[in-house]
Amino acid sequence: MINQCRNKTAFVKNVSSNQTKIMNRTFITTLLFFVAMQLSAQDMPEVRPEVLPPPPAGRLEITYIANSGFLLSSGTTRVLIDALYFDGDIWESPSKKIQKAIVSGDTPFRNITHMLASHYHADHFDAALTSRFLINNPGAMLITNAQTDSVLQKVYRQDPELKRPKQTKIIQTPMFGSETYESGDLKVKCLMQRHMGKDDFKVMSMGFLVEMGGKKVLHIGDAGWTDENFAGYNLQDENIDIAFIHYWFLLDCEGRRILDTQVKPKKIVVTHIPYDELRRNYKRIKEYYPDVEVFLNHLDKKIY
Ligand SMILES: [Zn+2]
Repeated sequence: MINQCRNKTAFVKNVSSNQTKIMNRTFITTLLFFVAMQLSAQDMPEVRPEVLPPPPAGRLEITYIANSGFLLSSGTTRVLIDALYFDGDIWESPSKKIQKAIVSGDTPFRNITHMLASHYHADHFDAALTSRFLINNPGAMLITNAQTDSVLQKVYRQDPELKRPKQTKIIQTPMFGSETYESGDLKVKCLMQRHMGKDDFKVMSMGFLVEMGGKKVLHIGDAGWTDENFAGYNLQDENIDIAFIHYWFLLDCEGRRILDTQVKPKKIVVTHIPYDELRRNYKRIKEYYPDVEVFLNHLDKKIY
């Protein structure tokens, strides 16, 4: 922009100089000089502040932690989802170094404002680490459901000093209900959904429809691909920018039907990836969703 302005001014000045030689009359010279000065003045931002471009549109930075865990950052709003746990067994887990940095609030996890936990399974959540995180990060708020909180309560019974009631928002809505939390620039609609698979029929996995940085982001935890889990929320009308959808959802034709008719996101990020299988099945997912995104390395970042 500065170069353009400089070239434009130089061009006008050259025209003025040539015209002066040809015409050799003071009236024309004065007129062109006046026009040149006017154009130069128009290029100066302090003279015409109203022609400056508008501020950039919403910017959202997404950092991959592990498995279904991500950090969403926009301005001072910094939200961790399913990102702090000890050992996800066969699933990807945050390294000890990342766990420690989150718990301590060290770089790159300074000033986390919210921690969202979809459900209590060990590849999404750890009660002991989370309670220590809340103590070390007094400005952070945990949002989760009552089932997950019941696991936290066991930690508190062993050490009541760990309790931080003002830093916890427990969503009490029954299965398939919803409740919305708002704070500053952040809005989170919590969707109470049933966990996938018969073995986890009683597990409440909470979906999060997060609005921040001018974007709408859906994270479905480990929700099953059933109509009862999605039909009541009208997510297809929400104009969702990015949906974090777990691997099995995308490989199942029922999951894809629900995604295409009841969620309709502009972009899909795959979560909960079994990385050995990914090499076999990633191309299959790409056939259905060519623009699907995958984060392959912990702490990889993308800007949306
Ligand atoms: Zn689970």
